[in-house]
Amino acid sequence: MAEQVENMKAGADSGRMRDIVILGGGTAGWMAAAVLARGLGNAVRITLVESAAIGTVGVGEATIPQIQHLNRFLGLDEGEFLKASEGTIKLGIRFEGWWRADAGYIHAFSDIGVAAGLIGFHHYWLRARKELGPETAGDLWDHSLNAVAAARARFAPMDRVGETPVPGTRHAYHFDASLYARLLRSHAESMEVRRIEGRVVAVERVAESGEIAALLLDDERRVAGDFFIDCSGFRALLIESEMQAGFEDWSHWLPCDRAVAVGCAPVRPYPPFTQAFARPAGWQWRIPLRHRTGNGHVYASALIDDDEATRTLLDHLDGAPVGEPRVIRFRAGRRRAAWVGNCLALGLAGGFLEPLESTSIHLVQSGLQRFLEMWPARPASPALVAEYNHRTAKEWEAIRDFLILHYHRNARTDGELWRACREMTIPDRLAQRLALFAESARIYPEPDELFTEMAWLQVMIGQGLYPNDHHPIADLMPADELADFLARIREIIARAVSAMPSHDEFLARIS
Ligand SMILES: Cc1cc2nc3c(=O)[nH]c(=O)nc-3n(C[C@H](O)[C@H](O)[C@H](O)COP(=O)(O)OP(=O)(O)OC[C@H]3O[C@@H](n4cnc5c(N)ncnc54)[C@H](O)[C@@H]3O)c2cc1C
Repeated sequence: MAEQVENMKAGADSGRMRDIVILGGGTAGWMAAAVLARGLGNAVRITLVESAAIGTVGVGEATIPQIQHLNRFLGLDEGEFLKASEGTIKLGIRFEGWWRADAGYIHAFSDIGVAAGLIGFHHYWLRARKELGPETAGDLWDHSLNAVAAARARFAPMDRVGETPVPGTRHAYHFDASLYARLLRSHAESMEVRRIEGRVVAVERVAESGEIAALLLDDERRVAGDFFIDCSGFRALLIESEMQAGFEDWSHWLPCDRAVAVGCAPVRPYPPFTQAFARPAGWQWRIPLRHRTGNGHVYASALIDDDEATRTLLDHLDGAPVGEPRVIRFRAGRRRAAWVGNCLALGLAGGFLEPLESTSIHLVQSGLQRFLEMWPARPASPALVAEYNHRTAKEWEAIRDFLILHYHRNARTDGELWRACREMTIPDRLAQRLALFAESARIYPEPDELFTEMAWLQVMIGQGLYPNDHHPIADLMPADELADFLARIREIIARAVSAMPSHDEFLARIS
């Protein structure tokens, strides 16, 4: 009997993938190591190869709220994580000058208003604006707890406001990417992930299948595995140089292809939001960390050179620069296939959509989640790989369209970039979404889409797209009731924010 059980076990084990090798120790590599170690436990052995001499891209400081799920999955305590990564709270992104040079808005993460029956809050607000006037309707963002808290640099986590139906705050983080990677590394190593320091100089392939057999290091060590995760950054050493996945170039829609980055002295109080300032040939980010502010100028190299881009950045810092500005080149687009054979690309190896909505780290997270959901244990079937790649493509395309919206819907008068983006032909699906919103205020995100109705609403209104009509159900509410409904929400939010601690106090208290 014992022999039979042993034979059954051996049968069940045969052909199972046991050794996962991750190439790269940037944010993507260490996220992959920690998540797979936590998710797959001792079903696999995980080895990560990285080269300190090559280093990491060294940017990637702003996130979106979904990162909380990742931290929770890994068991990271919020206070400890914020302290270890010099992190701050992020309630949204303030876009300055994106529609017109003199206008700004926030894409805040919380819901706006209160759902009133079958239709979205914004239909009521639009009706009020049209019928009762902008003063009675109030500013859209005065109905958002995150937006009001961000404007007043306050923060407290809450699911909803007291006993009211007004939705609570929803937050993400700004953090020092290298400190976060260090935290993930110690976490992964505590779950027995093996780290190898070394430079990969060649790749050994299986002759018949073309799959990857091993990574060969410059000191002649050989790291063999059953499955390889390419987190080698823009180099894309496995997915492109070896597996030749191909690259879908989206730079005709997202023309910025460089960034110059530099830190500067931090500013107090810490703003609980990212800032994105439109500039004549691109835009500039400002990300508040506790030990420094992260700054970068993202630009189209066809329109300005690196020196001018650097000067623009240095002219617009709100503190003394720390270190030398660094230029990073990139191309907007994605691998045609994120998964080829026994190789999966994550992070910059899989592609890059520029950092405007802080989606890159999230795409590592969602790629890992999908991979764990689909984890095949044995070598994956073509159908499974195709499904993974299909879902990845849809996710990237929806984010791409959301980013294009920011550039396309502009009324700026100061540069070739903005004119070209305004006049470019946009993807059909985006054109259809904008037309539908413009005529009837309807927003229909795809079922698995990252950005919600609230996100699309804020960016469309923020970019000056006011619909011609609203849902007729909003007309059923008597006008005086409508005015009270909106005023009451604003009042609840204003009171709730007044009772919140400042962002700085919150940080001091928690970490
Ligand atoms: C300008 C800019 C701004 C960004 N801002 C944001 C943001 O605000 N929010 C966000 O979510 N994302 C942002 N990103 C993206 C984010 O930086 C990346 O998604 C994230 O850092 C993951 O990078 P990575 O790990 O894929 O690559 P990298 O950090 O480049 O790491 C690559 C790793 O591979 C290793 N490696 C490479 N070749 C070899 C070799 N031959 N042998 C051994 N090891 C090797 C390197 O040593 C390194 O460890 C930004 C990106 C850019 C370019």
